Amino acid sequence: MKIIYILEKKMSKEVMERAEIVKKLESKLKPGRFVHSIGVEYTAANLAFLYGVDVERARLAGLLHDCAKYIPTDEKLKRAKKYGIKISKCEKANPDLLHGKIGAYLAREKFGVEDEEILSAISYHTTGRPGMTLLEKIIFVADYIEPNRRIIRELPEIRREAYTDLDKCVIHILKNTLEYLETLNAAIDDLTKETYDYYVANK
Ligand code: FE
Ligand code: FE
Repeated sequence: MKIIYILEKKMSKEVMERAEIVKKLESKLKPGRFVHSIGVEYTAANLAFLYGVDVERARLAGLLHDCAKYIPTDEKLKRAKKYGIKISKCEKANPDLLHGKIGAYLAREKFGVEDEEILSAISYHTTGRPGMTLLEKIIFVADYIEPNRRIIRELPEIRREAYTDLDKCVIHILKNTLEYLETLNAAIDDLTKETYDYYVANK
């Protein structure tokens, strides 16, 4: 069955057909990453059912969220510069963090996505951002809880929260991410901390 994305209002030009997107992603991404992308697509669809978000937009954002993940780390900086993407200090030190922003660029240029909310959901899927829309939260959460994820600390509880209290779930994910990065002594994107503080303050 062919699924053609017919997106509401915000889309003016036709997006690539799902089967074509899947084929392209499968050829670019490592098998595990491809499977993860399909998992995020379906998890995002489920959350969209529950929270009354347009299901096709959620699927498309989920499917494409890691579309830039195949670009080698050292090339990410070059690509970001070439595409005119602003690079933070933290991203400069850890170019892998750029895969969201580069992904949003590729989603627009290579996959024909013009819907700004989908592009933003792709852009911020790793850090979140203060004041996320429902769709953005859904992609942020789906990326973390999709069924192919290896079991990480408190994942069963986080999965339940996704379906019972989305903001609580967002906070829980950010908290665990911050703690995890601290134990690794890995760089933390300022936006992750900002997003955490924002949601804790607004809960
Ligand atoms: Fe990602
Ligand atoms: Fe991902």
